Amino acid sequence: MLGRLYKKLTEFLYPSFCVACKILLSHHQVLCGPCYAALPHVPSLHTKTATIPFLTIYAIGPYQGIVAQLAQAKEWHDIQSARQLGRLAALYCVQKHLSYDFIIPVPLHWSRHLVRGYNQAAVMAESIAMATEGRVVQPFARTRATKKQRSLEGIARKRNVAHAFGVKWYWSFEQVCALLEGKRVLLVDDVYTTGHTLKEFARLVVECKPARLDALVACRVV
Ligand SMILES: [Zn+2]
Repeated sequence: MLGRLYKKLTEFLYPSFCVACKILLSHHQVLCGPCYAALPHVPSLHTKTATIPFLTIYAIGPYQGIVAQLAQAKEWHDIQSARQLGRLAALYCVQKHLSYDFIIPVPLHWSRHLVRGYNQAAVMAESIAMATEGRVVQPFARTRATKKQRSLEGIARKRNVAHAFGVKWYWSFEQVCALLEGKRVLLVDDVYTTGHTLKEFARLVVECKPARLDALVACRVV
């Protein structure tokens, strides 16, 4: 009862607007019905490589339009946009009946985290966990500071992220594998362009033999 009252009060005090067309929304949502329905569909991508036996990559939208704008807002430290992406990601999982034991955001290097103040992928992961039954775990780290992928081209992007991930210093790889083995694991990232970063991270996670490994990104270049 009190919870419902509090929700009504916050909705009255802090009304939300559709981030695309700016109309007033009756509930705390990110997009109004028509703008949500107008999001271009991005087909899921089934990846299989020599080192990754299975990986399905889902995307909320293409790397254009409103979802891309929200993802790019990290450049000016707009955590509110990251939370809005998280709510869209959570809705995506609920509508597709996706559920996982563990949700793992692709880690940022500590130096970039320090500058930005947050990891957009981790903010998204928390929203997904709240809406589904999964738990966010972050035993991995970006062990070296990589350059921004969009500043590079072709093979340089692959080299840039090669062996860029490892486990955090207070975890052992065996401990992480004991946690993830046989479990359903979702990796989360904001932007997917060539996929080198996500695949490099997945290559490490897959060594722990999860029963299922999927990834959800906010937007994917199609
Ligand atoms: Zn709208």
